[in-house]
Amino acid sequence: MKAEILSIGSELTSGQNLDTNGQWLSRQLAEIGIPVGFHTTVADDLADNIACFRAACERADLVIATGGLGPTQDDLTREVLSRVAGVELVEDAACLEHIQQMFARRGRLMPERNRVQALFPQGAEVLFNSAGTAPGIWLTIGSASVAAMPGVPSEMFRMYAEQVRPRLLAAGLGSGVLIQRKINTFGVGESQIEERLLDLTRRGHVPEVGITVSDAVISLRILARAATGEDAQAQIAPVEQVIRERLGELVFGVENEEMQVEVVRLLHERRHTLATAESLTGGLVAHRICQVPGASDFFRGGVVTYTDEMKSAQLGVARAILEEHGAVSEPVARAMAEGVRKLFGTDLSVATTGFAGPGGGTDENPVGTAYVALAHATGTEVIRHGWLGTRLEIMSRTATLALNMVRLRLMRATHD
Ligand code: AMP
Ligand code: MG
Repeated sequence: MKAEILSIGSELTSGQNLDTNGQWLSRQLAEIGIPVGFHTTVADDLADNIACFRAACERADLVIATGGLGPTQDDLTREVLSRVAGVELVEDAACLEHIQQMFARRGRLMPERNRVQALFPQGAEVLFNSAGTAPGIWLTIGSASVAAMPGVPSEMFRMYAEQVRPRLLAAGLGSGVLIQRKINTFGVGESQIEERLLDLTRRGHVPEVGITVSDAVISLRILARAATGEDAQAQIAPVEQVIRERLGELVFGVENEEMQVEVVRLLHERRHTLATAESLTGGLVAHRICQVPGASDFFRGGVVTYTDEMKSAQLGVARAILEEHGAVSEPVARAMAEGVRKLFGTDLSVATTGFAGPGGGTDENPVGTAYVALAHATGTEVIRHGWLGTRLEIMSRTATLALNMVRLRLMRATHD
């Protein structure tokens, strides 16, 4: 069993709009256990649409298309389906009536152009549109079940829920569920993570375990397929446990949880206060912490000190240290963290300095170099890291690194 999602529209292939229907539909199909093998996006071109539907009907058991059902000349899906199925287009009286009523309700007469929306390939079923004029089409082509729905997301969502999903279940296409669990880690590279999990990530392992990277965060995705949600969860739980055991402190969250969520949770748990001093990250660390509800209970605040003068004036970083080592250095990161901890009177503080590029940098500290310092009651730790990436990527990853230092400190320091 394999599905293909076909997204139709020149606004998608031109890059003007993003195909969000494909993403949404893939998630919906996963919920009823239907794996998606292909996402195809095609412009409003007759020959290309015919070729895409032909290929999809051959290689997939279920084809779900969106777009191309409007009344205008660039809406080709009806014609394409009749050609690929090798049948005539015929008018559906009930459908025409519905479209006319949709216009009448808004006090308008149906434009003649909209009449085409009541045309269906012979033998097709009408997918009623309760949110708009364009009906959808359900038919069988060869061995594939095909559903064509409008491109407008709100109309498509309703049509899928009311018309398509019940048909998929009735046809026995959806059997069981696909459930995904995402486990987020930070601190080592992709290959180092995989080294520890080779037995789980090998092809054919049940449940499937994959690795994805996004902004230096490495996520493990466990994908379980089973008859019921409970059975799928039962497959996932032991694998998640093994992953957590092997990766330990590297794991910081699940699903879409970002690092700051865990940091704020731990600040509450340990009842520790925090302050930030940022140069390289320009306030990003503070911004991320403040995104989490309840941050104000333990996050006292932060300063952005971008120039040497302000590092001295606001944080008390000695001029001599700045002159001797430069602003991007271990001693300056350390002094910034210690300065802000004193200034805000917190248990913990974290500071960032570095070269985000594209210009600047030195032989010793090239663009991408970041120093992150964490100060606490019993000392100050500094990490130096070299990133590859754009200015924004370097800033973003350094902010995550800073949050991770706070997280690890809070996890380890049970009583100080
Ligand atoms: P159509 O049904 O082709 O007339 O599409 C109508 C509108 O729906 C388009 O102008 C887009 O704004 C939106 N749309 C169409 N396809 C998609 C898609 N795959 N993802 C998100 N929006 C879409
Ligand atoms: Mg269109």
